[in-house]
Amino acid sequence: MADTVTSQKTTIQIEDMITVGSLAEHLAIPVSRLIGELMKNGIMATVNEKIDFDTAQIIVEELNLPITLSKSTATTKEAVRLKPLSSSKGKSRPPVVAVMGHVDHGKTSLLDAIRGANVVKDEAGGITQHISAYQVEHNKRQITFLDTPGHEAFAAIREHGAMLTDIVIIVVAADDGIKPQTLEAIRFARKAGVKIIVAINKIDKDGADINRVKQQLAENDLLVEEWGGDTVVQPVSAKTKEGIPELLDLILLVADIEELKADYDIPGTGLIIEAHYEQGRGPVAQALVEAGTLEPGNFIVAGNAYAKIRNLETTNHQPIKQATPSTPVIITGFKILPEFGEEFETVNNEKQARHIVATRVANRQVSGSRIDMGSNELIRLINRDRQLSELNIIIKADVQGSLASVSDSLKALDTDEVAIRIVGSGLGSISENDIYLAHTSNAIIYGFNVNLPTSSKQQAARDKVRVRLYKVIYELIDDVKSELSKLLSPEIIETELGRLIVKGIFKTTKTEIICGGEVTKGKLTVPALARIIRDKEVIAEVEIVGLRRGNAEAKEILEGEMCGMNIKTTKKIELQENDRIDLFSRETVARQL
Ligand code: GDP
Repeated sequence: MADTVTSQKTTIQIEDMITVGSLAEHLAIPVSRLIGELMKNGIMATVNEKIDFDTAQIIVEELNLPITLSKSTATTKEAVRLKPLSSSKGKSRPPVVAVMGHVDHGKTSLLDAIRGANVVKDEAGGITQHISAYQVEHNKRQITFLDTPGHEAFAAIREHGAMLTDIVIIVVAADDGIKPQTLEAIRFARKAGVKIIVAINKIDKDGADINRVKQQLAENDLLVEEWGGDTVVQPVSAKTKEGIPELLDLILLVADIEELKADYDIPGTGLIIEAHYEQGRGPVAQALVEAGTLEPGNFIVAGNAYAKIRNLETTNHQPIKQATPSTPVIITGFKILPEFGEEFETVNNEKQARHIVATRVANRQVSGSRIDMGSNELIRLINRDRQLSELNIIIKADVQGSLASVSDSLKALDTDEVAIRIVGSGLGSISENDIYLAHTSNAIIYGFNVNLPTSSKQQAARDKVRVRLYKVIYELIDDVKSELSKLLSPEIIETELGRLIVKGIFKTTKTEIICGGEVTKGKLTVPALARIIRDKEVIAEVEIVGLRRGNAEAKEILEGEMCGMNIKTTKKIELQENDRIDLFSRETVARQL
C-alpha cells in the first residue's frame, strides 16, 4: 500500500493510536510544533504519549499540511502487538519482572543479589554492553527480570504498545522510607496495570524500620496483607541476601495467581529491547519473546529490519536451540540494526521477510517516486523544500534508561529550521563500527557515561570523526544545542549609515557612477552598501567604493557636508538629480538556539 498523492496531498497511513513523536515524524514537522497545536486544542500530550486517529486527523487539518491521514488496516501483527502478555490461553510462562524505586534504595544491589545467587556467571568475559534482561531459576522455575534503570526505559518500551511487564517490584529502603520517586514508581505501576510487590530493603541496617514503611504504604493506599489489604510486601537485604528466596517465592506466587500463560506452539513474536553493533557480529539485538517459540534459522521481521537468526543466545551468551515465551534472548543475523521497542514476528522465509520490509518502507514512501526510502529519507525529502538543516548524531549510553532520556531530550530541541537526526544509538562503549557509521553518515558521536577505547579513538582520529563524551546530561544537551545553532542560517543585520541627496552626475558607465551631493542624514563611510531611491522607490542596490571631499579621498563624510561619491554598479543606472542614496552596512550574526 503505497501512499497516494491526491491534488498535491500526500496520504500517510497511521495506526489507530500513535505517539506524538511518531506522528510528528510521519508529518515531518518538529515535535514541539505538534505539541503546541495539540495544546491549542486542549490536549496536553508529551512526545511519548499516544493520541488516537481522530485527534491526529483533526490536528493535521488544523496544521494545514498537504497531508491527509488514513488508518492503516490492522494486520495480524497489530493484533499481536496489542495483546497483553497475560493471555489466558496456552501453557504457563515465566513472569516478567521490573524493579523500580527511589534512587539509592537498592534496586541495582537487589538485582545483583538475585542474579549473583541464581544466574550462571557470565563466561564470555569482556562483555561491555549492559544486559537489560535476564532469567533466574528459582524452585526449578524461571523468572525474567528486566534491568531497566529508570522508568524512562520502561515507559519507552510500553509506549510501543506492549504490556511487557507482569510484576513491578517497588524497592523501599527500610531506613529511609517512602520518597517521591517511590510514589512515582507506584503511580507508574498502577497506571500500567501491573502487579506490585514491595521489597523493603536494607533491613540489616541500624535505622531500619519495617513497620514505618508499611505505615507509609497504607497512607498511600497500599495496605499490606497482614493489615487486611492486598499489598504484597517482603522485607529483604540485598547485602546479606536475607529475604531474597522469599521474594522470589512471592514473585512465583503472584505469577500463579495471575495465571500467566502464552501459546508456545506458534511462530515466535516479541519485542526488541536493545540493539547495537558488535565488531565481527554485526547488528546484535536483545529481544523478549512474548509468545510462540523462536529457533535459530527462523526468519524474523522487526520494523524495517529482518534477520535470519544466526545465533540465538541467552543473555549470558549461552547458545540455545529454542526460546519460549518470557525468555530474553540475544539474536544475531539482522541485516540492519532493528529499533529499540520494535515488535518482531516470525515469517516463513526470506522472500516474505523482504516483502514485509519493502511494504513497510513503501508505506512511508511518497507515491509517484520510485525511490525506496525509509521514513528518515522521506522526512529529509520533504524538509529539503523547507530548508531544514539536520544534525546527524549517534548516541551511545551506558544503560537503556539514560539512552532514552538523552534521545527524548534531544528530540525536544528540534525547531522549524533545524532538527536532530539520530542515525544510530546503542549501549556500551564507542566501537569502531560506531566510528565507521559516523564517518559514512557525517555524524557526531555523543557518548553518555561510556568509554572511547583506544582503537576507536585512533580510528576516529583517522576518519576525522567527532566524538564527545559526557557524564552530565545537561552538558551533553548544551553541546548538541550549540552544534544545532551552527546550522541556523545566520541573522542578517542591516545598519543605516547616512543619506546623500544627488546634486550632480559626472560619469555613468555600465559599472561605475561618479556623482556629487549633500549628506542630509547620518554619516557616510566607505566601503558601504547603498540603495538608490527615487520617489520612494528603490531603483537599485549598489556598492559605494569611494568618497571625496573636494579633491581629496575621504574615509567618512558627515551630515551637512558636500562630497563626491564613487559607485560600483552591475548594470547601467541613469542616476538623476535629487535621487536619494541611502548607505548601510550589512553583517551576518550567528544565532543561538
Ligand atoms: P539504586 O540507586 O536503587 O540502584 O541503589 P543501589 O543498589 O546502587 O544501592 C545504593 C546504596 O545502598 C549502595 O551503597 C548499596 O551498597 C547500599 N545498599 C543496597 N542494598 C543494601 C542493603 O540491603 N543493605 C545495606 N546495608 N546497604 C544496601
